Amino acid sequence: LPTPLDEPVPLIARHRAVTPAWLALYYADPIELTHGEGRHVWDSDGVRYLDFFGGILTTMTAHALPEVTKAVSEQAGRLLHSSTLYLSTPMVELAEQIAMLSGIPDAKVFFTTSGTEANDAALLLATSYRRSNQVLAMRNSYHGRSFSTIGITGNSSWSPTSLSPLQTLYVHGSVRTSGPFAHLGDRAFIDACVADLEDMLAQVGGPVAALIAEPVQGVGGFTHGPDGLFAAFKRQVLDRLGILWISDEVQTGWGRTGDHFWGWEAHGQSGPPDLLTFAKGLGNGLSIGGVVARAEVMDCLGANSISTFGGSPVTTAGALANLRYLLEHDLQGNARRMGRILRQRLDVTARQLPMVREIRGKGLMIGVELVDQDGQPSALAAATVLERARELGLLIGKGGPQGSTLRIAPPLTLTEDEAVEGAELLREALRQAQQELWSVEEEL
Ligand code: PMP
Repeated sequence: LPTPLDEPVPLIARHRAVTPAWLALYYADPIELTHGEGRHVWDSDGVRYLDFFGGILTTMTAHALPEVTKAVSEQAGRLLHSSTLYLSTPMVELAEQIAMLSGIPDAKVFFTTSGTEANDAALLLATSYRRSNQVLAMRNSYHGRSFSTIGITGNSSWSPTSLSPLQTLYVHGSVRTSGPFAHLGDRAFIDACVADLEDMLAQVGGPVAALIAEPVQGVGGFTHGPDGLFAAFKRQVLDRLGILWISDEVQTGWGRTGDHFWGWEAHGQSGPPDLLTFAKGLGNGLSIGGVVARAEVMDCLGANSISTFGGSPVTTAGALANLRYLLEHDLQGNARRMGRILRQRLDVTARQLPMVREIRGKGLMIGVELVDQDGQPSALAAATVLERARELGLLIGKGGPQGSTLRIAPPLTLTEDEAVEGAELLREALRQAQQELWSVEEEL
């Protein structure tokens, strides 16, 4: 190993020296996390935080969940090796479970190591099956950071290149508060989005491979269209033209939206998607993702392939333990109940603080939209609330097209006491930020 430097250099300086400038870090003074337990994490100064962002949704269930730790260490002790050239019981068992849970008939599963790679695989399958590189994606979408997934990311701040192997058309529907149809009621909004899609496709030559969409947009700020939107797309447009529907469930899967196990189920009136992608929460922090597809689509590739780390015995054993835990403990039901508690409290806060324009989302996926004194989306407000919340011992996320949305997504084992505590801390952080930025006293 290289010789250590004589002078101690702060970790942040060392980090910046060896990582890309475009790798974003939260906070003016970034946090080094050292350990976690349940819904809490600790930093290198020993400060404890209530984690309302679940490590950007990867810690789906709980930090240091003993069931996952045990499964991982037992498997690592038995065989720490990975290659799809050999059979592996945990991989097959996990694929069986996910195929059954997916709602897709005759489903097959291909494992990857991230959400980006899962969507990349879905695009490869859909474009090969349909023999077309034309793809529909939603405005304000985020699907990953590889060359192909950047090409279907509708939010330009996450899209560093306009070069793409795909031809992408962006569709209205996931943002309810801006755009030409924002003033319409849900039914009329859906009709307008369908008519707009039909009109756009009438001008497109050749087949279109797929529509890829997040049921609730994650990086986009926990925005979503009305329930039934994708069912209407499917029934009225996609099925008629043979266009496949890919549901990106990287943030919405495993019960997080509360009322459903998958986000697509709020749009399931015309049947399930043809492909579904997942990642993040499945491994409770382990790097695992994948794509589920109808067998006919999954098997359409002509050549052989292998994956070295996709579906490794260690990650699939850990993911299987995590999946078992969340099903056995009805964490979807907990997401629904805790989501309601948080929502009620945040709705009260929103009525008291004019900086909060809107509370939205589903289950334990709650977005808080912030504005400045002119009523414009405020990234400064979101960044300020993040800092104040951190000082109070609460970690939250941010996002949205203008960076003005706070994102709340705690681990799904959140207790009622923690939900109440987190809502109080967030109210206080919002109050402090508004006072600081608006220079007005709010009576709370
Ligand atoms: N799809 C969605 C909906 C996501 O939110 C993300 C990550 N934010 C990805 C794909 C990419 O996943 P990963 O970061 O694991 O590559």
